[in-house]
Amino acid sequence: MPVKDWEFKESFMIHLIYGDITKFEGDAIVNAANSSLLGGGGVDGAIHRAAGPKLLEECRTLGGCNPGEAKITKGYNLKARYVIHTVGPIWRGGNSNEAETLASCYRRSLELARQYGIQSIAFPNISTGIYGFPKEQAARIAIDTVKKDLYENGELEVYFYCFDPENYQLYSELLA
Ligand code: ADP
Repeated sequence: MPVKDWEFKESFMIHLIYGDITKFEGDAIVNAANSSLLGGGGVDGAIHRAAGPKLLEECRTLGGCNPGEAKITKGYNLKARYVIHTVGPIWRGGNSNEAETLASCYRRSLELARQYGIQSIAFPNISTGIYGFPKEQAARIAIDTVKKDLYENGELEVYFYCFDPENYQLYSELLA
C-alpha cells in the first residue's frame, strides 16, 4: 500500500482528552446530533443541558441537517463560543456509505470552523454511541481524516474527547 504524503507530517496539533466535552474551554465543540437538530440523548443531550434552552431555539431555525453535513450555532452557556452540529451515519452493517459519511462529518466541521475563524475545536467520538458505528474503525476514520485535513488546509488545535474507556484506549493507541 502506498504511503500517503500527509503521514510524514510530524507535529499535528491533536490532543486526546478523557472526559466531558461540555467542559471544553476552547472556541468550538462539535455535537454528534441527529438530523432533526432538535436534541437527543448521549452527547447531544449533555450539550443541550449545558448550553441552556437558547441552543434549542437557535437549532429550530436551522431546518435540520443531513448525515455527513454540519451546521453552526452559538454556544450560549457553554465555555465554547460555538457548537458545530454534525450528523453521523447510523451503522447499518458497513455497506451504506457509513465510512465516507463519517469522514465527511469531520471534514465539514473543520471547514465550518475555518470559515468562522475558530482555532480550537473539540470532537466527540461521532456515531460510536447510539448510532452503533464500530469504535475502532470510527477512531481510525476520525484520526486519519483530521490529520489529512490539517495537513491540507492548515493547522487548528483539535481535541478528541473520549467519554468511555474503550474509545480512550483506542485513541491512545492510534495517536501514539
Ligand atoms: P451517536 O448517536 O452519534 O452515536 P452518542 O451521543 O450516542 O451519538 O455517542 C457519541 C459518543 O459521545 C459516544 O462515544 C459517547 O460515549 C460520547 N459521549 C456521550 N456523552 C458525552 C459527553 N458529555 N462528552 C463527550 N462525549 C460524550
